[in-house]
Amino acid sequence: MKKNPLFQIFIGILSFIILNNLFITTNAQTKTNKYTIVIHGGAGYISKDIPDSTRKTYLNSLKIALTIGKNILAEGGKSIDAVEQVIRYMEDNPNFNSGKGAVFTAEGKHELDASIMDGKDLSTGAVAGVTTIKHPITLARKVKEKTKYVLLAGPGADQFGKEIGVEIVNNHYFDTPRRLKNWKKRHNKKIDKHGTVGTVAIDMYGNIAAGTSTGGLSDKMHGRVGDSPLINAGTYANNKTCGVSATGIGELFIKNTVAFNISALMEYKGYTLKQAADEMIHKRLKPGSGGIIAVDKDGNYVLSFNTPGMFRGVANSKGLFEVKIWK
Ligand code: ASP
Repeated sequence: MKKNPLFQIFIGILSFIILNNLFITTNAQTKTNKYTIVIHGGAGYISKDIPDSTRKTYLNSLKIALTIGKNILAEGGKSIDAVEQVIRYMEDNPNFNSGKGAVFTAEGKHELDASIMDGKDLSTGAVAGVTTIKHPITLARKVKEKTKYVLLAGPGADQFGKEIGVEIVNNHYFDTPRRLKNWKKRHNKKIDKHGTVGTVAIDMYGNIAAGTSTGGLSDKMHGRVGDSPLINAGTYANNKTCGVSATGIGELFIKNTVAFNISALMEYKGYTLKQAADEMIHKRLKPGSGGIIAVDKDGNYVLSFNTPGMFRGVANSKGLFEVKIWK
């Protein structure tokens, strides 16, 4: 039988539409009106004697950051976008140790680390030791979306940033008078070291995303990489369990695989988010190590730390909106 070419094209288009619709339906996620977002701006010894104006500045910065993320989620936006946008704001804010305001290395420079993860498909991207990228979190997302890799480090990561067209700055752009002053007094152990930033959110579709960005530990050795750009240690997200962003002494978070272990305790042992976070932060890590922020698949959250303070905030669709520094 001779086939009519027009008829064949018609059948082709029809099957494409049917298959496509089938794909969309099987991948469609139900939309609720629920969301939760948590943020941190670093954990550590934060003196309660800081001037009232400094305390207000910090709380205000946290409120702005939280509002950016909350608005994205309240409008039905994606958790991965909320995470990136909140962290971009914090990277621009000189009060935090990420982007502008990052601490100095032992050599008097800035080396930045960041990572981001989407709990929907476990896709991740990270950068370590970048020196010219204005928003390391955005470059981390580009690694996730534009390459087949998970982590780019050093000059190769900076070069990728340049090629892909993210904002490039001179390393001195990250300098701030406060960090310079502290760097000059760097042998004083009491100098504040906190300020890493992180965000975890669950959107109305039940997708969890997490991200972390940092200048690392102050006075760190050239080339030192902490937990923040390492998926499983400083950042983790999985729609089946939870999302986590950590802050503190990176080496301890790497050795204890903190972020992944919180998710694993939930998945393998049936722990609640709070039980899993308590196990890692209060039982496995020694006091003074740091803290985590996390959100689970049902929108529950924890802001847990074993240091005197952690800059943090939480907002959700039930109207909760809170920022805090100390216990
Ligand atoms: N965790 C970061 C690092 O070790 C530092 C911090 O969170 O303050 O690089």
